[in-house]
Amino acid sequence: MRIVLLGAPGSGKGTQAALLVERLGLPHISTGALLRDAIKRGTRLGLAVKEITEKGELVPDDVMSDLVKERLGRDDAADGFILDGYPRTLEQAKVLDAILEELARPVEVAILIDVDADQIIKRIELRAEEEGRSDDTVDVLRNRMRVYQEKTAPVADYYADRGLLTRVLGSGTRDDVLERILSVLQVDAAN
Ligand code: ADP
Repeated sequence: MRIVLLGAPGSGKGTQAALLVERLGLPHISTGALLRDAIKRGTRLGLAVKEITEKGELVPDDVMSDLVKERLGRDDAADGFILDGYPRTLEQAKVLDAILEELARPVEVAILIDVDADQIIKRIELRAEEEGRSDDTVDVLRNRMRVYQEKTAPVADYYADRGLLTRVLGSGTRDDVLERILSVLQVDAAN
């Protein structure tokens, strides 16, 4: 299964990706995690993107293309993947299609986790306390939400136009949301 997970910052996208990975045994490809790892290791990529991510801005599309192309080309992605945090712009969605076309492995389903803005602010404040991520302060969050509305929300329409998008309600417990996603994927939740 080749799955793209979409959702605003704080929608629970990363959490659901981790639960799905456990359930489905697919690799979790999180561009945010790849970037944070590069920053931690102080690689050239990490140094180039540190300031951008700390402001809640998007890393340039061409930088992301190289990173994603390399990751999707690895053997473990051959039997499917859960892509989390990419694509975040229409341009990235087109690049992703081109990469996957070359590999003859197109996106099969895009799932958008829908959560309202008030709930997201509450969740992010909690996460900021728990994890201490430098891009989780309230100001940066506001910026990330704005960037999401402007640049990433249209990506959902891109997949809807292709008949690949399903919206899933992001409220309730993590297991509630997981069950909704598994039913979209037609995986029996009891397994
Ligand atoms: P969240 O899931 O909380 O929205 P991520 O962990 O996916 O955040 O990403 C953290 C930061 O990494 C983003 O705010 C952005 O700066 C950068 N980033 C991650 N993925 C991309 C992408 N596809 N394009 C551009 N920047 C990205």
